[in-house]
Amino acid sequence: MDYCKTIEYRITPTKAYTIIRNCSGCGRKEHYVSTGNFRVNANGRQLDVWLVYQCEKCKHTYNLPIYERVSPEKIEDAQYQAFLGNDADTALQFGTDRNLFLKNRAEIDIERLECTIEKLNDDCAKHEGVENSEIQIIIHNPYMLPIRTDRLLPEILQMSRSKIRQLIKDGSIQYFGSNLAERTEIKVYYTDKS
Ligand SMILES: [Zn+2]
Repeated sequence: MDYCKTIEYRITPTKAYTIIRNCSGCGRKEHYVSTGNFRVNANGRQLDVWLVYQCEKCKHTYNLPIYERVSPEKIEDAQYQAFLGNDADTALQFGTDRNLFLKNRAEIDIERLECTIEKLNDDCAKHEGVENSEIQIIIHNPYMLPIRTDRLLPEILQMSRSKIRQLIKDGSIQYFGSNLAERTEIKVYYTDKS
C-alpha cells in the first residue's frame, strides 16, 4: 500500500451570491444580483450600511443589511472608506459572507454559485509504477458553499461523471455526506492505475 499522498484544494467564490426573493415590481420570485455598490446612511451617532442588490428583470432594489444602527467607531476607517468607494473586493467579501445571508434570511441561489477550485499542493501528481495506491483529497471550503461533493470530482480527478459514479458505487471513492463540509476528506483507491 502506497499511502500518504495528499492533494489539497480550496474552493473560493468569485461572484457575490444571487438572491431569490419576492419582487414587488415583478409580482413573483425573481433573481436579485449584487450591484457591487454599498449604501451608507449616517444618522447622528448611528450608521447603517447595506450591499445593494437589484432584481435582474425590473431593477427593483433590495438592500442587504451589513451594519444596522452601529456607532461609527465600530467600523474601521479603511472599511468605511471601502464602503464609500464601492470597493469591489469588499463587495465580494460581503456578497459571499454566508452568515450575512442567513442572518437576513436572504435565500442564496445555489444554482448560480460561481467559484474557483485552486490546487494548494502538487506533491502527488505522479505515482507511476504503483499498482495499488490510495490518495487522499482534502477540499477546503472556507465559505461553506453548499456544493455537492460528487459535482467537483470530475474536474478534480479528470474523469467523466459516469466513471465517478461507478467508483463511488464500488467503494473506490469514499467520503462522508453528500455536500462539502468546511473540510472534506475524500479517499480514492486506485487499483488498476495505468
Ligand atoms: Zn423584479
